[in-house]
Amino acid sequence: MKHLLSRLAPLWAPLWAPLLLALPWAAQAQQGYPARNITLVVPFAAGGPTDVVARTLGAVMSRSLGQTVVIENKLGAGGTIAAGAVAKAAPDGYTFLIHHNGMATAPGLYRKLAYNPLADFEYVGQVVDVPMTLLGRKDLPPGKPQELFAWVKANASKVTLAHAGLGAVSQLCGMLLQQALGVELTAVPYQGTAPALNALLGGQVDILCDQTTQTLPHIKAGSVKLYGVTTRERIGHLPDTPTLEESGLKGFEVKVWHGIYAPKGTPTFATERFGAALRAALKDPAVVTRMSELGGDIVPEAKQTPEGLRAWLRPEIDKWGALIRAAGTYAD
Ligand code: ASP
Repeated sequence: MKHLLSRLAPLWAPLWAPLLLALPWAAQAQQGYPARNITLVVPFAAGGPTDVVARTLGAVMSRSLGQTVVIENKLGAGGTIAAGAVAKAAPDGYTFLIHHNGMATAPGLYRKLAYNPLADFEYVGQVVDVPMTLLGRKDLPPGKPQELFAWVKANASKVTLAHAGLGAVSQLCGMLLQQALGVELTAVPYQGTAPALNALLGGQVDILCDQTTQTLPHIKAGSVKLYGVTTRERIGHLPDTPTLEESGLKGFEVKVWHGIYAPKGTPTFATERFGAALRAALKDPAVVTRMSELGGDIVPEAKQTPEGLRAWLRPEIDKWGALIRAAGTYAD
């Protein structure tokens, strides 16, 4: 038998030879990983709430990985440009994506999406949950939330709503607000809510819904008008600010969650190594303090895992798909 196998071996060499050749490379890649900078793609403009989370994590993860986590802001189309690019990136462990609810909303918003959130990515884990705040420019006439709702209804054809593109949480929050008030406002899209907030601060737009990770300092400085928070419960940083649900928008809730992804096929040794650095960073005092200062709730450790992210994403796709269909919003 042995004699027979050795005689047959050359016949199936084309099958086993490449495997043998690949072995040292794979072992080498694993052994030295990470051997160079790692790119963490952020789907929105620098300085915005998603970028703040990424850069806070990246600085600490770089230390534990021994290589720099380079933040790359890849903009456009509510985050779908970045997600599509990462889905097609080399699965070599040197490209990751941080994204928020937009990973779950895009399938319901875009008929032709260049990726499938459930099939085209490996999962690293969830990061932090962040509330949103409904803001007006500083000189907007209404004072209380109910006055804002009445003012928006009375002036709907003139009111401008800034957001970060179809699928961005600022756009989704705006979509739910318009649906709740039964109005259609003029949307002013930006490449992220960093430029959107600048427009609000400059009085160029009327309202914006954005994460506390960016808006808290401006609220505390009094440079914007605050009408409510989008979470079911009031938030510690703004104890006197009612939720939008309290102010009459029944069932209104938008909580921004964040996940980290890699291109499908990224080796497990890479996603696990990056995941370990993520979980260490989420315990780092500097990260804990910064996230807390910005109104973020770091998710429990069980959610900071591939299983924790995958288990969360699937029902979120269904939930947001239903909300989007009810609002009648979609892109081609
Ligand atoms: N807040 C943006 C959004 O609406 C994201 C960002 O600019 O970080 O999704």
